[in-house]
Amino acid sequence: MSSKEGFNRLAVNLFEKARTLPKIEWIDLATFYDPRSTVLVTTPSADKQSSPFCHNFNIVERINITGGDAAYIENLQKKRSGAEVMYTVGGGRAIDLARLLAYTWNMDITAVPTIISTDSPFVDCTGVREDGCVHYIKSKKADRVFLDFSLLKKSPDALHAGGAGDVLSIYTALSDWKLASDRQVAKADEPYSIAVADQAQGILDYLMANRSEIHTMSQRGLESLVKALAMEVELCNLYGNSRPEEGGEHFFAYAIEPRLPHTTHGELVGLGILVTSLIQYQKLQPVLEFMNTIGMNYRPKGFTRAILDETLRGMPSYVNRHGLRYSVWNEYCYNKKQVSEILDALNS
Ligand SMILES: [Zn+2]
Repeated sequence: MSSKEGFNRLAVNLFEKARTLPKIEWIDLATFYDPRSTVLVTTPSADKQSSPFCHNFNIVERINITGGDAAYIENLQKKRSGAEVMYTVGGGRAIDLARLLAYTWNMDITAVPTIISTDSPFVDCTGVREDGCVHYIKSKKADRVFLDFSLLKKSPDALHAGGAGDVLSIYTALSDWKLASDRQVAKADEPYSIAVADQAQGILDYLMANRSEIHTMSQRGLESLVKALAMEVELCNLYGNSRPEEGGEHFFAYAIEPRLPHTTHGELVGLGILVTSLIQYQKLQPVLEFMNTIGMNYRPKGFTRAILDETLRGMPSYVNRHGLRYSVWNEYCYNKKQVSEILDALNS
């Protein structure tokens, strides 16, 4: 067995023997029956997409998510639902907020993703957007995650492909984690662990090895994506935080997000991985080829040279101002020539 296969197997064990993940089940939603009174947390588009699948739910209340900033969330939290259980149907943001509401209201929650676009269905925290950055607050993990292949296939394949972002980010996050350790600036909660880094690498290898299957977006392909995301979450839970998976690529994504507000997290993280790899002097080709094979979009709509330029110039002060973990951005010096190199690489 090669060492790569060894890491791969080690990583898959994280899924099969997971201790911190919600129960993940593939089901046929149209034939699933739950008589309990239900509050459905969704978005207008996900509601439209999923309503033919949700005949057998006793929906007594609907919450349509239309915002995501702190004031909007606080307002929602004040209205306690009278339903017995919560279901949330949608993408990352709907699920993120629903888990926070379920935590506030102490309710049982089932997450039904319509897109596999982030690790949101599997985590126990919620990203809140405030002051141009994203910070994470405690919420609850879903009690279970239902995956319905027919419902998932109603979403464009490119949106699912974006889900690879929260696993591919290991590529740049590991480099930043090592940098913090080498510079002796790692905080008490982020000691560098070769064993954890190797497992993270194993999860990344697993994702990369399943590229042809993911490209087809068959049930097996989506399952590989779900497994990789779930293993990444399990590893971060066991380690204690998301240091092995979240680094400069996420910080870049957070910084550029207000300039590209209608873009998915996966697309922004994808772009962040490519830009950050170049700043880290890492090889771009393996990740770029993978993204192209699975059809992941890393050139969000509205992305321009001016936006890239402005974001890059601001990165060192941005990571300092928001107290983000140490990364290559703490050492970055803006260089006009490099902006052209980045754009060339993105367009290659
Ligand atoms: Zn993420």
